[in-house]
Amino acid sequence: MPIAVAETISELREITAEARFAGKRIALVPTMGALHAGHLALAQRACEIADLVIVSIFVNPMQFGPTEDIDRYPRTLLEDLKQLEPFGVSAVFAPSVAEMYPTGSSDTRVTAGRVGSLYEGHTRSGHFDGVLTVVSKLLNVAQPAVVLFGQKDAQQVFLVKRMIVDLNLPVAVEIVPTVREDGGLALSSRNRFLDVKEKRAARGLSIALEAAESSADRGIDAVLAAAQSVLMGEHLVQLDYLAVVDPQTFLPVDDVYQGRAIVLVAARVGSTRLIDNAAIFLATARS
Ligand code: AMP
Repeated sequence: MPIAVAETISELREITAEARFAGKRIALVPTMGALHAGHLALAQRACEIADLVIVSIFVNPMQFGPTEDIDRYPRTLLEDLKQLEPFGVSAVFAPSVAEMYPTGSSDTRVTAGRVGSLYEGHTRSGHFDGVLTVVSKLLNVAQPAVVLFGQKDAQQVFLVKRMIVDLNLPVAVEIVPTVREDGGLALSSRNRFLDVKEKRAARGLSIALEAAESSADRGIDAVLAAAQSVLMGEHLVQLDYLAVVDPQTFLPVDDVYQGRAIVLVAARVGSTRLIDNAAIFLATARS
């Protein structure tokens, strides 16, 4: 069956109403398009766990800051549809900005709170309010039983999960591991902006995370030092932040913390901003 393309909320609701009436389990995969194998892994997983899979493709103005070039964001709808076809996705929801924000910018919005102003939210002020607002709108529009996100955006995963708990949203969350290129670089729609040299340098992010992981049994200082030393060796990489956080709170761990942690890294490579993360098991430093 060809993928149905819904450009309006009412078109999508017709599709979901029929599916719900037929007792089908609906999954939603929110994306901004320019799909790559990372997005496709989400679509594939969605098709395994649901009967009707909707992939939304919407470049959400509310999550871009005034200095971020939203017009530069790649838009490749026809190519995206072709890529989704083999997976059994039922519908793509590709609304216009006016369809999603009929009153202009949304005055009513979801705020991401303290964690929303750290790391990505520190560099990109208001970003997570925009993300959570559009995710809650998409959940209201599609009313899926399950929504899927990639671990690549770890802070987004944390904040979406917390919003679902805080606002009692009736949806399950499924997280899909980060898909990487052979050299380790996490796939991202923005990788297409990297030239050959920048791409080589960008691999430094995942190499730094591997170095951090290998040092986890020697404590937080060793983890940070190992990652920093890799990143400092890459002159094209301008580090934005490197942090080790507690997955329960998403706040930085202190030097006596032991247990599961997430190493976050963000950097600019040329004019392209990249993020990545890795789960580690942190031991306290041996004295
Ligand atoms: P985006 O289009 O960048 O908003 O991403 C849409 C979804 O795809 C988000 O849940 C991302 O976390 C996920 N995603 C992006 N890149 C990857 C990747 N390399 N591996 C797994 N999931 C990803």
